[in-house]
Amino acid sequence: MYTKNFLKILFVLVLGSVLMGCQTVSTSPAENGRLSVAATTSIVADVVQQIGGDSINVHQVIPNGTDPHSFSPTPRDLSQISGVKVVFVNGAGLEETLLKVLKNTVPDATLIEVSQNNPLIEGHEHPHGDEAGMGETHTTEGEEGHPLDPHTWTDPNNVMQWVDIIVTELSRLDPAHQQMYQKNGEAYKNQLKEADGWIQEQVAQIPAENRKLVTDHLAWGYFAKRYGFEQIGAIIPGFSTLAEPSAQEIAALEEQIRSQNIRAIFVGNQSNPALAKRIAEDTGAKVVPLYVGTLSDSDGPAATYLAYLRYNVNAIVDALK
Ligand SMILES: [Zn+2]
Repeated sequence: MYTKNFLKILFVLVLGSVLMGCQTVSTSPAENGRLSVAATTSIVADVVQQIGGDSINVHQVIPNGTDPHSFSPTPRDLSQISGVKVVFVNGAGLEETLLKVLKNTVPDATLIEVSQNNPLIEGHEHPHGDEAGMGETHTTEGEEGHPLDPHTWTDPNNVMQWVDIIVTELSRLDPAHQQMYQKNGEAYKNQLKEADGWIQEQVAQIPAENRKLVTDHLAWGYFAKRYGFEQIGAIIPGFSTLAEPSAQEIAALEEQIRSQNIRAIFVGNQSNPALAKRIAEDTGAKVVPLYVGTLSDSDGPAATYLAYLRYNVNAIVDALK
């Protein structure tokens, strides 16, 4: 009796690890009865996973810690998603390098832009690379040719709109689990709403005159708009990391940091750390690391989107309060 149960448990354990192993290597669109989908960034992948739960496998295309603006997939990255019917992408011009490749290599997959209903922030100028005639634009453009801010997830209210899009798409592909997707989506939206309230409480600790952000690139526009911050400037003065600042732009930023008493430069892990350090040394501001376009690894402090919000808000409040 004992042995029989023991063997049963062992069998389940072995089967479980085999199934878990399949999540990362198999290309079948329906693995173990689960719906198989792909997502570009770790942030999009996490939100899709929260809604899909045990009924889906999510293949994350851009590895954690990698810059989503510049990421270009290897043939192996692409072979892992060759069978999927849907790829959830951030959109709004974020995955500028990846999307060009995806549209050609997985032509049968539907690309769903989770940011499609978010009201996008429009920039006033082209990134300087375009002014110099250096070829293609760096971000999706608004109607008048102005670049658009793709970092929609920095406001959880935008991610609430993602949830509806993801629930609809998963339900279309896998109607048998529609109720579960809807239930998970509602529960997750409640968590996002709670996070929004928590962020408002936290930023209230920062005196109004200190609610100024200097960052590695202009990635915090939606956060700034929602929670009453001003984006003073950025080391790369654009919505993308695919540019280099000129000496004049760095000098102008340093002047602003000094004249506006800016205490901190918030940088993502994809930025140029030497340049941020130099600006900090020149101005007396300190460099504060944030997670920007990516979550941390699973054992890090920003392993989920909700943990990412907590980590970043705590870092911003500690630096500016
Ligand atoms: Zn960015």
